[in-house]
Amino acid sequence: MQVCSCQFEIVNESYTTQTCSHCGDMSSSPKGRAGLGIREWTCAECGTWHDRDINAAKNILAVGLDRLDVGIPC
Ligand SMILES: [Zn+2]
Repeated sequence: MQVCSCQFEIVNESYTTQTCSHCGDMSSSPKGRAGLGIREWTCAECGTWHDRDINAAKNILAVGLDRLDVGIPC
């Protein structure tokens, strides 16, 4: 990855696939070995439908912006 003059931060991706990018809930997402085969899931907390990779990308973006606690409007 090439980094120019823009600000760059290392983002912890550990929980990005398990956290709802809308409300931050982690209880209803696919987890562990069984969860690896699950591509799509719906948050039990706010009812938002997620594609796992897109949700992870949103969470990585949110972490980068320090706004994971408020989520990203769908
Ligand atoms: Zn949610």
